[in-house]
Amino acid sequence: MKILVVNAGSSSLKYQLFDMTTNEVLAKGLCERIGIDGIITHKRPSNPDYKANVAFPDHKAAIECVLALLTDKEKGVIADVSEISAVGHRFAHGGEKLTKSAILGDQELEYLESIVGLNPLHGPPAISGLKACKEVMPSVNHVGVFDTSYYSGMEDYAYIYPIPYELYEKHKIRRYGFHGTSHRYVAAKAAEYLGNKDAKIITCHLGNGSSITATVNGKAVDTSMGFTPQDGVPMGTRSGAIDPTVVTFLQKAEGLTAAEADNLLNKQSGLAGISGFGSDCRDIRDAAAAGNYRAQLAMKILCHNIKKIVGSYIAEMNGVDAIVFTAGIGENDRDLREEVCKDMSFLGIEVDAQINQTCPRGEFADVTAKGAKVKTLVIPTNEEYMIALDTLNLTK
Ligand code: AMP
Repeated sequence: MKILVVNAGSSSLKYQLFDMTTNEVLAKGLCERIGIDGIITHKRPSNPDYKANVAFPDHKAAIECVLALLTDKEKGVIADVSEISAVGHRFAHGGEKLTKSAILGDQELEYLESIVGLNPLHGPPAISGLKACKEVMPSVNHVGVFDTSYYSGMEDYAYIYPIPYELYEKHKIRRYGFHGTSHRYVAAKAAEYLGNKDAKIITCHLGNGSSITATVNGKAVDTSMGFTPQDGVPMGTRSGAIDPTVVTFLQKAEGLTAAEADNLLNKQSGLAGISGFGSDCRDIRDAAAAGNYRAQLAMKILCHNIKKIVGSYIAEMNGVDAIVFTAGIGENDRDLREEVCKDMSFLGIEVDAQINQTCPRGEFADVTAKGAKVKTLVIPTNEEYMIALDTLNLTK
């Protein structure tokens, strides 16, 4: 069975075509600058990348171009679109009702449209992408996989904020959690490695956006992102958790509108805001290595905040069996892994410095020090595969 996975953003559309019999990625790529002009990058294993300028007035034009390339005699990997059995779509938000992956019919689409207020950045483009794909591929099932659904089983005391309860009822203000598809994937891999499906696992998805999740028995019990992906640890340009009064203070002191305050905390804060060296962790590491104080401080603040959340989840779960690092920073920044896990030997957490510094990038690695009770693992994430798997399971 061949499954197409689509991740539509406001001006981009990522795709991967999986052969689920062999678990192979047959082709993948990215349409960029949708609604502006248009570029497509199309990749197949053992072939040079294909890049072209194509006019993408909307998402429909982009998906039509993707299907034309997938079935192209030279650049394609399938003979006909009918070989695609189903399409999996990534959605950041499923609200309170879409609590697991689902085939998206009219009712589900209507519900997704009703909650765009909760998800104004990702919701509308994901819906446009879905509608475009349904128009171009009307005869197959379209499945939605929601980042929030992994957290739908959390206890009320873990997701209700201490503000007037009526505001939760009226506006659905609560902790939703994000990156759930990634956390679900790496937590399952870790449980499989431990040979313990009941394991207590803390997964640290550290990339441009970062979140930390506590999983017990395959179910998320807490997570650092909240009502929006702004909560939790500092990120590339997002502040993460701060005293909420800072926002209202800044609005008054700097004369900022709500939109300007939002922009400041989302686009100008985090590692970029502290360091002044932009949001890319590699650039900040280089500046820190060259002795720059603010770059060093940014990395210290990041590690400090990750450690605090990891510690709180260990308390919440009454222990931990594995700590997992994933995504761009988690998989690649060896010093960060060492720093976060430092001085936690009293909890049974200890990293083998040599294995941690030399394990190959992009691969599973067990970097646990000999004798340490808790496993420290590096597990490359694969959200697209998880989406393809859910799509397969719902449609086969
Ligand atoms: P992601 O959002 O998962 O693609 O991760 C992007 C982040 O990973 C960026 O901040 C990159 O700087 C960071 N990253 C990628 N490679 C490395 C590396 N070798 N060392 C540190 N950070 C890295």
